[in-house]
Amino acid sequence: MSKIAVIGGGIIGVATAYELAKLGEEVILFEKNYFGSGSTFRCATGIRAQFTDEANIRLMKYSVERWEKLEEELNFDINFRQTGYLFLATSEDEVEAFKANIKLQNRFGVPTRLIDMDEAREIVPILNTEPFLAGAWNPKDGKANPFKTLFAYLFRAREMGIDAREHTEVIGFEREGNTITAVKFRHNGRIERVRVDAVLNAANAWAPLINEMAGLKRNLVPITAYKHQLVKTEPLEPGQAEPLVCPPSWNDAYIIQDGEDGGIICGAGIEHKAKSLNDVEPTYDFLRGVLSYAVKIAPPLRYAHIVRQWAGFYAKPPDSNPAIGKLLDNFYIAAGFSGHGFMMAPAVGQAMAELMTKGRSSVPLDWEWYDPYRFERGELRSSAFQIG
Ligand code: FAD
Repeated sequence: MSKIAVIGGGIIGVATAYELAKLGEEVILFEKNYFGSGSTFRCATGIRAQFTDEANIRLMKYSVERWEKLEEELNFDINFRQTGYLFLATSEDEVEAFKANIKLQNRFGVPTRLIDMDEAREIVPILNTEPFLAGAWNPKDGKANPFKTLFAYLFRAREMGIDAREHTEVIGFEREGNTITAVKFRHNGRIERVRVDAVLNAANAWAPLINEMAGLKRNLVPITAYKHQLVKTEPLEPGQAEPLVCPPSWNDAYIIQDGEDGGIICGAGIEHKAKSLNDVEPTYDFLRGVLSYAVKIAPPLRYAHIVRQWAGFYAKPPDSNPAIGKLLDNFYIAAGFSGHGFMMAPAVGQAMAELMTKGRSSVPLDWEWYDPYRFERGELRSSAFQIG
């Protein structure tokens, strides 16, 4: 049994800690704030396999299969529901692009199909069908509760004996050659160290700082934090907009009905580079912008009260694909998940745990695609399809 440090108590770090515990490893999980306080508890709940490239489609096809069994495996109600994602086309060119994506997704077993607006209206009763020509519909996409999912993983991991520490900040490493030998951390003003056999950097927006602590260049994995925001309406009758509904050509604007309380979560690609890694202040321009799209997608929303607005980070590499893999002999990274880290966590957590302990994984994860050294080689991938 080796001792593995996981840095970052978001969904990726916690899911990986759980998978490592399942494999019988001794795990120490560090979170500088409270669990979920990074991007995870700010996310829009969405889970989809509708990507536009082979690597992300195959990874998410597998991840959705894990999501389907997660509630039973974790023995916890995480409110995972396959309520679908519905993308809407506003031009003939976009319909053709949808058809090409659907063909690619079908090739890997994702059952997306093109639907007309009558069917779209049956699926989303408050939809304004008039501006749209067709929809790309995958009923197997869905949503889950990020709070319950993170705690479900954490509770089970703790039952298996992981040492999970909140308000404990990693501040440095001891390194011999290409091997990290110890992690230094601060808790309640006290600095301590622990010897470790391997380390995972799962710090997402903060990952470049952790890489630097390990003696690597800060921009080796160039992740930039963009402020992304959401607003939520008062609860509506269930069944009004259960799928995530998104016309990508309208600035990636989307609506999705919260699976817990029925409020409609509204998002859009109105993003700003974060001024700092504390810059999570919601902005008025987003509120105005997102609602102008939301009421065009679903006109009855103009009568709904907004009860909440919040912001978090899309931690983005230049191609919006995460960096997943090995950086030093025993130092690994899974970070930079942009708008799709929550949905990817079941697959990525398993893949990372297997890579770190066995050197290979049964998860269909294309290690070359996500290689963290690709930026240094100037090899960007085609941009991952990014919404919520
Ligand atoms: P995080 O949750 O950010 O966790 C990283 C953790 O590392 C943080 O808690 C941080 O405090 C900790 N940390 C940093 N430095 C240190 C240190 N030195 N020591 C100890 N701990 C440290 N994804 C989806 O899949 N579906 C969606 O619908 C979706 N919608 C989104 C909507 C919004 C508005 C936002 C902001 C994001 C959305 N995302 C969505 C993206 C998703 O939230 C993230 O990709 C995912 O949560 C990333 O998880 P993570 O564990 O990698 O990072």
